[in-house]
Amino acid sequence: MRISSTLLPAVLTACCLLALSCAPPEHAAAPGPTAGGEAFREAGARAGELHDRIRHEALEERIFTHADLWGALEPVVDGATHLEREEVARSVHDRPIYTVRYGTGPATVLLWSQMHGDESTGTRALLDLLHWLAQEPDDPQAVLWAERLTIVAVPMLNPDGAERFERRNALGIDVNRDARTLATPEGRILRELQRELQPAWGFNLHDQSARIRVGREDRIAAVSLLAPPYDHDRSVNPVRLRAMKLAAVMRDAVEPHVGGHISQYDDSYNPRAFGDGMQRWGTSTVLLEAGAWRDDDEKRHLRKTYFAALVAALDAIATGRVEHADTARYRDLPFNGPLARDLWVRGGTIVLPDGHSYRADLAVNYDDPLRPAEASIVDVGDLEGMFAARDTLDADGAYLHLERDGLSEDDPAGPSLEVGNPARFTVRQARDPVSPTLWRVMNGPPERLR
Ligand SMILES: [Zn+2]
Repeated sequence: MRISSTLLPAVLTACCLLALSCAPPEHAAAPGPTAGGEAFREAGARAGELHDRIRHEALEERIFTHADLWGALEPVVDGATHLEREEVARSVHDRPIYTVRYGTGPATVLLWSQMHGDESTGTRALLDLLHWLAQEPDDPQAVLWAERLTIVAVPMLNPDGAERFERRNALGIDVNRDARTLATPEGRILRELQRELQPAWGFNLHDQSARIRVGREDRIAAVSLLAPPYDHDRSVNPVRLRAMKLAAVMRDAVEPHVGGHISQYDDSYNPRAFGDGMQRWGTSTVLLEAGAWRDDDEKRHLRKTYFAALVAALDAIATGRVEHADTARYRDLPFNGPLARDLWVRGGTIVLPDGHSYRADLAVNYDDPLRPAEASIVDVGDLEGMFAARDTLDADGAYLHLERDGLSEDDPAGPSLEVGNPARFTVRQARDPVSPTLWRVMNGPPERLR
């Protein structure tokens, strides 16, 4: 009887040691890294070390407000003469939306984070990036950037969503589906910034579901990348080609941090989305998504990974090395795959309070896989081979005694187990309801009882 995390790297390592077939398929199929790829990988590794040294101590957790962010970032920016903060708009609830500028170079780069209020990793990486530029302006890399780049960052584009840690803004609109209508002040300012600055490069910074797999592999995606299309045919013009090169740089830069757990985001065209719009409007744009990493529910490792991706990418733009990137390093990435289930309770016998007992697996999802407060049964029956699970509870030979108050009582003839019921059961050694207990699932992750 054990619980194992089947999709995350610790077990991946273990199964590789057992010589099972879990080598990242892109390594098997793709040509080896080019010289440029090796340089970008090294840049990503170095940026990780830089992050260890200079990251800001604030925003340790995923959930924070506009006041938390600017409480940390305002003194950093305002204390540095070479960083310039400007209020460019107000959110629906009148929170200021700021840009922060660095450098006066010919290549303009626009980065925006948290247009989805509950996707905060990019904001934290921008805090760290601006903290570094404020602290170490004489670093040769920072000096080069100041000469060659004009960086315009918009940390937390959707502060009202962030306040509630919700995706949408206060009008109920998904700002990333507002690129055509521009019904939201948050969408309008992003469009205005693009029109005014005509940035050559764009960074669209998001987080994705912690359940997304790398293709059909038994691995969760830690990072997904996309050079968004600008038409339904997914054509490649020079603007998108440059975005693909930038995505290739970022793929190599994150390899040292999350190797094998990198995928390509769905590339179907969405004319309402800003990434697709930016590409159409002439800004070479990359979408960066943080997914999940083992023992990293507050996404601290992913914050560092994100920082490494940004630093390596900005440096590749500043040095011109991005032009030498091999787009195959991006195009060979497996696409985001089907969602994993959070918990697979495998091999047990279910015992209902009225005495029915039958052999069945359970699939359970949490309300938030990174911060589970509630757990629901999402499938029952023979589930062998039907999905990948983030965790597996091996109940082979054991009995799952379901609690009556978790079941549906709609039928007066007896309780029914329904998909959607809360996951409330005790795993026991025998059918006898007072037999020794092994595990308990009470609307949350399994607790071991012996
Ligand atoms: Zn998003």
